[in-house]
Amino acid sequence: MRLATGHPVIAIPGPSPTPDRVLRAMHRASPDIYGEGMQAAIESVVARLKQVAGTKAHLACYIGNGHAGWEAVTANLFKRGDRVLVIQSGHFGRSWAEVMARQGVAVEAMDFGLAPPDPARLAERLAAADAEGIVAVCVCQTDTASSARADIQALKAAMGDHPALLVVDAIASLGCAPMKMDDWGVDVLIAASQKGLMCPPGLAFAWFSDRVAGRGPTDLTTPYWDWHPRAAAEAAWQYWGGTPPVQLVYALDEALRMLLEDEGLEAAWARHQRLAEACWAAFDAWGAGHPEIRLVVAEPALRAQSVTAATVPQADALRAWLSDNLGVTLGVGLGAEDPATGLRVAHMGYCNAAMLLGTLAAMEAGMIALDIPHGTGAVEAAARVIAGLG
Ligand SMILES: *Cc1c(COP(=O)(O)O)cnc(C)c1O
Repeated sequence: MRLATGHPVIAIPGPSPTPDRVLRAMHRASPDIYGEGMQAAIESVVARLKQVAGTKAHLACYIGNGHAGWEAVTANLFKRGDRVLVIQSGHFGRSWAEVMARQGVAVEAMDFGLAPPDPARLAERLAAADAEGIVAVCVCQTDTASSARADIQALKAAMGDHPALLVVDAIASLGCAPMKMDDWGVDVLIAASQKGLMCPPGLAFAWFSDRVAGRGPTDLTTPYWDWHPRAAAEAAWQYWGGTPPVQLVYALDEALRMLLEDEGLEAAWARHQRLAEACWAAFDAWGAGHPEIRLVVAEPALRAQSVTAATVPQADALRAWLSDNLGVTLGVGLGAEDPATGLRVAHMGYCNAAMLLGTLAAMEAGMIALDIPHGTGAVEAAARVIAGLG
């Protein structure tokens, strides 16, 4: 029997669920893009995006996805042959390094497998004699594939007085986890619209510090990707290097109102933390006596708040059963040791406790239906966390 009719539950780590309010805000004809309304919406979005990132510095907006954000930053920050250290805790750190290398940067990988970065190893690397020429350290705050969380403040501290820039990909964490770009000394931050920011894909953002702004274009900077005119924009088209993505601006305007004014940024961070803890509690219960069910990141303090990666026997079959029969879609085990036993549960952006509990209870039904051996009490364990008794 299929029990899938009803509102679909999309628990993949991006695009995350889009609130109806955001969809309605987009459902508008294009205005006069030279008019005051569009200008005001863009200015308001830019000001609030700086608030979300915790910065008073510069912001360049692009029409594109996270990959566009990566490419934009490389094109502005580095010149051909610059030495860049890329910290890797999974698929996204590795893909980012590949993009940089293809753009002409000399990438050195610091690979932690699927584990969170160890600041001591960074300190040790930067203390070596040949580390002098390293121009930047790049890291994903959340590697969405492994759900490893990088402790940005600890990494910054580990850099000591090495002059390298700190570049952070917050595509899967902005709006879900604390980010205080200025206070933490982050030089460049990258994000996109379709994860914690609750919008459809299509917008990428690069925030950059005064220290970086002074560097000017490089031999990798092309006119479209140059962030200086975008950050210094006055007319609507200048922000976007051409026609503004009108409906996405309306979407983002509404999403940022929900995040900053209706819920509050810190409340959103706390919500993500609690949802994550509930999800981990369920996996702990499933995995009790069944070590083949386990989270990818062992240390709770270094697990992402917006997505949880796990190993589960028959993960592929479980995902298929859930989407066919219950209307629940889980994330694939991207970059997992064995993709057939990897899956990810997103609790990212527009996700409340009922959505998460529903996802976990559905997973339990799937394990029962498919005869996947598992410990009992997972849904209750998650419910206790949600009730504040975790
Ligand atoms: C999703 C994601 C990306 C890639 O974003 P796209 O929009 O798919 O190009 C990059 N980095 C991280 C950490 C992500 O989660």
